[in-house]
Amino acid sequence: MTELLLNHLGGRWTAGQGAGTALVDPVLGTELVRVDATGLDLPAGFAFARREGGEALRALGYRQRGERLAAIVKLLQANRDAYYAIATANSGTVKNDSAVDIDGAIYTLGTYAKLAASLPDGAVLPDGEAVPLAKDNAFASRHVRVPTRGLALFINAFNFPAWGLWEKAAPALLAGVPVVVKPATATAWLTQRMVKDVVEAGLLPAGALNVVCGSSAGLLDALAPFDVLSFTGSADTAALIRRHDAVAARSVRVNIEADSVNSALLLEGEAPGSAAFEALVKEVVREVTVKSGQKCTAIRRVFVPEALYGAAAEAISARLAKTSVGNPRNEAVRMGSLVSRAQLHAVHQGLAALKTAATVLHDGATHAWVDADPAVACIVGPTLLGSPDPDGAAVLHDTEVFGPVATLMPYRDAAHARALVARGQGSLVASVYGSDEAALADTALDLAATHGRVHVVSPAVVALHSGHGNVMPQSLHGGPGRAGGGEELGGLRALDFYHRRAAVQAAPSVLERL
Ligand code: NAP
Repeated sequence: MTELLLNHLGGRWTAGQGAGTALVDPVLGTELVRVDATGLDLPAGFAFARREGGEALRALGYRQRGERLAAIVKLLQANRDAYYAIATANSGTVKNDSAVDIDGAIYTLGTYAKLAASLPDGAVLPDGEAVPLAKDNAFASRHVRVPTRGLALFINAFNFPAWGLWEKAAPALLAGVPVVVKPATATAWLTQRMVKDVVEAGLLPAGALNVVCGSSAGLLDALAPFDVLSFTGSADTAALIRRHDAVAARSVRVNIEADSVNSALLLEGEAPGSAAFEALVKEVVREVTVKSGQKCTAIRRVFVPEALYGAAAEAISARLAKTSVGNPRNEAVRMGSLVSRAQLHAVHQGLAALKTAATVLHDGATHAWVDADPAVACIVGPTLLGSPDPDGAAVLHDTEVFGPVATLMPYRDAAHARALVARGQGSLVASVYGSDEAALADTALDLAATHGRVHVVSPAVVALHSGHGNVMPQSLHGGPGRAGGGEELGGLRALDFYHRRAAVQAAPSVLERL
């Protein structure tokens, strides 16, 4: 039997009472470890986190909590090799793709550790100036933000076991709010190991950082009114969460990051081979292949002017054809596998749905696999689909295939392009490529209404932009509508979710003491 990973709750490590669910190497098919959360006393564990973890964290203040984050950064850096080994085995990712998750997590934590220096050295964040409520300013109102007295529960997706934990835990812990993370079962190992390392190093107060691996059963029932809940995953599970009593009746604040059919848009007036054209081609290929397309921000739809449809199809296909796929342990491999057989099945199903409205421009099935057994490995080759009739094909705008797949579509004019992008019904990110700066700015503002982030690539930034799919802690992550309506990161804006805002009405001499 493989190791049963322990849960950390109530200040101690506890094994689930069931046999456990196996985590499997998606390339070799071997069992790695097991997880189980059966029989945990969730209400008692949550109460411990709120009471012990919350009070101790709040007693530290913002700057000291920032120092704890900096210490966690050092610890995680020291253990990077172990994290990479887990990612290779459990997520099937090549080194560069594991870095997006692991080093992305460490960078995000480090960013919040640094941001802490700009916060006040106390227990409260001011929010604007006092405003008079009576003649001669004898009575006034001032807003304050104080850390919520509950805990933060994270229910995370399988594709970012490291970054998904720390991009949320960094602002939560900095705000003084204890964390319970429930990683997606398929890749829970890396999250559990990172929590284990931090807890065992004693870098945080007891109860401040907890992990529950296995089923989500009972987690939402254990939430209380001042808790907050961050969910990352599919729109279907998000809908269940929104209807749960914790949210509907107990007003638990909820942030949802769901699926998203993100776009890349090449503006008019760019010739094949121009800097903007080449930048779009390169970025589409990167987004299709990094982490085998298992990024919530990955480009799924590519829009180019009608006249460039053929040239774009050819250029993207030529680059995709050069991608070697297979066992991530082989140095020659650029793209590894999907995380599980369930995902393999879902990607095949999604591809079949897209193919009802699109033709295959580059067939991922033509890639020979390096060092991997087709009967076992959960691999899909990078695939480009295309449809010359994007108006009549709802499936292309509605279907998020969570794998190495994008669909190329032509547009007639700027208005048509914007209308097509908007058919994603709200996305995490759109990238826009062109050299006309006025047109780029105008398009960015138009897309801002339906996207959490608009990534603009002009010739001046082709060599230095941060990438369509890379979520930078300085910028907002989240999107309206179908993308879940959530907001994360965005520098210190992330702290808002973990604070309660209150107005204090009093004599100015009292307000000055706040
Ligand atoms: P999922 O099935 O919805 O699972 C997400 C998480 O919810 C997992 O931890 C899962 O636990 C848990 N869960 C499942 N059923 C639940 C329930 N009834 N109540 C509470 N929690 C429950 O999603 P997925 O298929 O793993 O994730 C892929 C999706 O995530 C994609 O659509 C992708 O776009 C989206 N995603 C979005 C972002 C973003 O930031 N917007 C980031 C990454 C991924 P188990 O694993 O134990 O079932």
